[in-house]
Parts: sequence; structure tokens; C-alpha cells
Amino acid sequence: MSEKMLRRQDDRLTELIDALLAAKAEYDFVATYEREQPGEATATLEACRQAVESYIEELRGAPAAQPCVWAADEAGVWDTACGHSFTFYDGGPTHNGQKFCPYCGGSLVEVPFDEASDEEDT
Ligand SMILES: [Zn+2]
Repeated sequence: MSEKMLRRQDDRLTELIDALLAAKAEYDFVATYEREQPGEATATLEACRQAVESYIEELRGAPAAQPCVWAADEAGVWDTACGHSFTFYDGGPTHNGQKFCPYCGGSLVEVPFDEASDEEDT
């Protein structure tokens, strides 16, 4: 998950909590000093509570990026777990600042070519 996305979610949650606290303060004020049924304040409070609940549902529903493993071969060709191949002019995905697979959108997990294990196999 990108830092920008987390920041946006954090801002949205702060906004919802502020609205909820304001509604609670209004409710408490009406209930304490006006000694009447705080009907409107209760409705505002309930609306805020529902907004928080629906945003939590939205966050839970957001599909987390599945990992996509990229494994390099001896020629520097990267095979992706989702069935594609990719070559870089220089280095691998991390070296080139890639964090997500451009084919499936998964979070990219890099497995560099291991020369040592290749020699053991042969
Ligand atoms: Zn992929």
C-alpha cells in the first residue's frame, strides 16, 4: 500500500473522528444544559457513527495487493508469477524503483538469480 494512499485514509479517518467528536459534544451540551430530548443531536451523532462504520467496511473491502514474485534467470530475464517475462536495461525491479507488477498489480517480490544454487544444480 502506498504512503500516499495511507495518508489519504488517515486524513479521512481524522475527518470522521472530528465529526463524531463534534456531534458527541453537541449531544452532551443539549442533554446537559437544555434538559430536553436531544433528538437532532442524536440524529447527527447516529449519522456520524454510520459514516465511520461504512468507511471501515470500505477499508476492509479494499483488496490488498497480492504479492507477485519475479524470479530472474541467468540471462537477466525476470519471469513473473502471473505469467509474463520482463527485462531491464540495468538491474532488477528494485534497482529500477518498481514496487508493483505492471501486469497483475500485485506487490512485487524480487528473487534475484542465484548463481551459487545454479552451480550446485549442475
Ligand atoms: Zn504479476
